[in-house]
Amino acid sequence: MPNSTPLPDCRPLIGIPAANQEPNARANRPDLEFRSTYTNALAACGALPLIIPLWLADETLQAIFARLDGLCLTGGVDVDPAHYGEEPHPALGRVDAERDRTELLLARWALQADLPILAICRGIQVLNVAAGGSLYQDIAAQVPGALLHTYRLADSPWERPTHRVRIAHDSKLAALLEVEEWATNSFHHQAVREVGEGFRPVAWTDDGIIEAIEQPARRFALGVQWHPEGMFDSDPLARRLFAAFVAACCP
Ligand code: MN
Repeated sequence: MPNSTPLPDCRPLIGIPAANQEPNARANRPDLEFRSTYTNALAACGALPLIIPLWLADETLQAIFARLDGLCLTGGVDVDPAHYGEEPHPALGRVDAERDRTELLLARWALQADLPILAICRGIQVLNVAAGGSLYQDIAAQVPGALLHTYRLADSPWERPTHRVRIAHDSKLAALLEVEEWATNSFHHQAVREVGEGFRPVAWTDDGIIEAIEQPARRFALGVQWHPEGMFDSDPLARRLFAAFVAACCP
């Protein structure tokens, strides 16, 4: 595995909420899944990744949160539009009330405590909603003329760049990447609409869709709409992004 980035001196503990739930006929609760590309990318940059279960009481979740040095929110199903005050659009996909509850709590606590956050795909959407923002429930239905953002894995592998994002030159994201343009993958049908309080948009595709948000005054509060973990072994910028996040998590 390429390893051009020096690892940080500390080994920050980074929480990752469990991802999609799959029905289990033998249990009265679904099985939880997580995708090892996220944990592998964090570990390769020196972090200690910790999967956080769903279905925990608030106080248990809070006690886990208190041990964390950083939070990583990952991809998955749609956010329930009730969390930003909208009725479901006909093109809304599957939602997961328990995952919404767990991730919105963790995201709000992290913003309050200025705990570093890297939020990816669904994660940027959760982070934006946690800060009071809203989403396009379906880009194709709600943004006429938008580019294709919903590539399917069957047609386009994780590491394949499918659109260009332009990055604000005065953003922390541009400073850490040292580029103002990145050809990224794209596997989403929702996107940030109104940006949440304290955040600013810092990357866009040519159709104006927001592809990254950040809070400049925070230690590290970044959401990206693409999947850098899926490009970790093929694109040095993806490794640079994860390495910067892990370094920011060191107390
Ligand atoms: Mn996109």
